[in-house]
Amino acid sequence: MSSEKIIRLIPQTTALPKRIERLNDLAYNIWWSWHPEAVSLFSKIDPVLWNVELHDPVAFLQNVSRANLNQVANDKQYLAIYDRVVEDFDQYMLSEGTWYQTHYPDMDPKKSIAYLSFEFGLHESIPAYAGGLGILAGDHLKEASDMGLPLAAIGFIYNQGYFVQKITEDGWQETSNFYLDFSKLPMIPLLDENGKNITVSVPLPGRNIVARVWEIQVGRIPLYLLDTNVEDNSSFDQQLTAKLYTSDLKTRITQEILLGIGGVHVMRRLGYNPVVWHMNEGHSAFLAIERCRELVVEGKTFEEAVEIVKKGNVFTTHTPVPAGNDKFPVWLVEKYFSQIWPELGLTRDQFIDLAKEASPYGDQFTMPILALRLSERSNGVSELHGMVSRKMWQFLWPEKHVDEVPIKHITNGVHTFSWISRRMAILFDQYLGREWRENPDDPGIWERVKAIPDEEIWAVKRHQKRKLLRFINDKAREQWSEGTVHPIQVLAGGVLLDSDALTIGFARRFPTYKRGYLLFHDYERLMSILNNVNQPVQVLFSGKAHPADEPGKMIIQKIYRAIKDHRSGGRLVFIEDYNMEIARHLVQGVDVWLNTPRRPNEASGTSGMKAALNGGLNFSILDGWWHEGYNGKNGWAIGDGKEYESNEKQDEMDALSLYEILEEQILPLYYSGRTISGIPTGWMTRVKDAIRTLAPQFSTRRMVSDYVHEMYVPAMKESQQ
Ligand SMILES: *Cc1c(COP(=O)(O)O)cnc(C)c1O
Repeated sequence: MSSEKIIRLIPQTTALPKRIERLNDLAYNIWWSWHPEAVSLFSKIDPVLWNVELHDPVAFLQNVSRANLNQVANDKQYLAIYDRVVEDFDQYMLSEGTWYQTHYPDMDPKKSIAYLSFEFGLHESIPAYAGGLGILAGDHLKEASDMGLPLAAIGFIYNQGYFVQKITEDGWQETSNFYLDFSKLPMIPLLDENGKNITVSVPLPGRNIVARVWEIQVGRIPLYLLDTNVEDNSSFDQQLTAKLYTSDLKTRITQEILLGIGGVHVMRRLGYNPVVWHMNEGHSAFLAIERCRELVVEGKTFEEAVEIVKKGNVFTTHTPVPAGNDKFPVWLVEKYFSQIWPELGLTRDQFIDLAKEASPYGDQFTMPILALRLSERSNGVSELHGMVSRKMWQFLWPEKHVDEVPIKHITNGVHTFSWISRRMAILFDQYLGREWRENPDDPGIWERVKAIPDEEIWAVKRHQKRKLLRFINDKAREQWSEGTVHPIQVLAGGVLLDSDALTIGFARRFPTYKRGYLLFHDYERLMSILNNVNQPVQVLFSGKAHPADEPGKMIIQKIYRAIKDHRSGGRLVFIEDYNMEIARHLVQGVDVWLNTPRRPNEASGTSGMKAALNGGLNFSILDGWWHEGYNGKNGWAIGDGKEYESNEKQDEMDALSLYEILEEQILPLYYSGRTISGIPTGWMTRVKDAIRTLAPQFSTRRMVSDYVHEMYVPAMKESQQ
């Protein structure tokens, strides 16, 4: 372990005019992404280029013209905003009087937290995420930054991201690759004193894998990203961090070894000594093995090492079904760990049993079992998911009653300032006072939503919906202009949308359990709902199916067939290549957010929380977070939370409920009983109920506070090392 100096050299994007030279610092800290004024500092310089460069300030500054820079550098209005933003940023980075310091003034700030995740969703320009798990991790970091936690995160930067989705005119999902240019991302190279890249090296039988370490600044939180595309590696190893979620098991286990064991090495190499190690899913659970190994090498027995290591480990599971668990055949684990178990003082069987003993779900080496066994504190991500998890893993604690299985729950949340629209935030400033920004999880402050006049929220909602439709329209126009698509793809892209129609959003990944097909269960009924001229409905779909998920791709195709049916009147839309930008527009613009998972498969779900924060009404199965969030007045529940004996029966009952509520409750509330100025007052009451009751409870401020109070701080108090 070295104690040498680490040099973080923020690259210079371009020669900036002196008066606005701090733009470079802002570009290299994605703090800007949740501060609209900071966003405007870039977009105002050249709005067209800002879109062309996909809102990536590093690429933007590299390519912006000197003339444009000079112009803003002499613009008084621009400079006033610039000075304010820079001051806010510097103030923020000083970390004085943070939530953490206020709540835990006596805690040694050197007691730090390491947070490991396979994916991080921070911004659309950094494609290091596939779906909800990554977005959650990204939001966790942003909130940890706002609260001033001593936390550092570790993950991968994938030079080919997840994949780019295109839908053919037959509705079939095609995937294409792309290659990220790291020099265009806000990634800071870490160098040693001799100017050489900081790397870590993980020994495997017959070889070492070398990974370069990059840093992304998430406000005050450093995120360290591993990249194996370096010369010292074989071509197989160079590809390890090429793509997220490959189906190849050998690649997968090597990635997990790299994240878990390499993650510990990164912390040591950079001089951290975390007391808490938070595993976001089981992918990083090998970190527990590595930490035990460190202690055994120092002279502890394996049992002693486990007792020490466990105290600091926190494990969050996100999987509610045994089939979804991350696991490996035993022979594969033997291949990679046969050198390690002697180092731990274990026999082969003892080692393998750490992650498989007595499992009713088969005899594979199961990562969540490893994580559960080696963590003192574990949790599911909603109340319902906590219950499901305790049942699922009860066999690991045969002497305990199911309610006593030591897996709690901390319900997910969303980072308020990353997901709220600028207009809605301004409205809240007016009626809630600035305190809502300091304490976004305080239900008392949100009570003031009741005082907002209907017409003001309605005006914001209408503005956001028009903005969403314009965004969709521009995308379709761009596709058509490229000259490579069939007219039907432009139609599917959303050129016939209507800004007065009730607009429903459905956007998420397309695994079968999310039942993207449920709305089409009674096809004729859907067609007549969409085309009722007095109360039209339009539905916007977006989302990727995993490239190996054929049933998922068939669901997309089914949706696409309905889009192509002229009877749907252009009121069904599929927006290609779902990402955080599309998500932001959708959750801010739609009237209704639809979610139809097969209960209890949705561990939590978070997109509905984003919609609620923006005044969208959830219309969902009572699964995941909605089981807790729904109070009878702040949205609608599909079904009654019952689980039927067969999937067919479940689909049928849930679809019936869906159509009935849509026809009898949602449509009348939206279209009838409007005021003279066209405001649906009953609808607005529900919107205000949704914001008031859901925004504080399902914020990451509430979520990360729970992690601090229930997991991190108790772990810090118990662990010495
Ligand atoms: C929020 C979000 C998700 C997660 O949505 P779920 O409701 O949990 O399925 C997935 N992808 C993107 C881009 C998101 O913004």
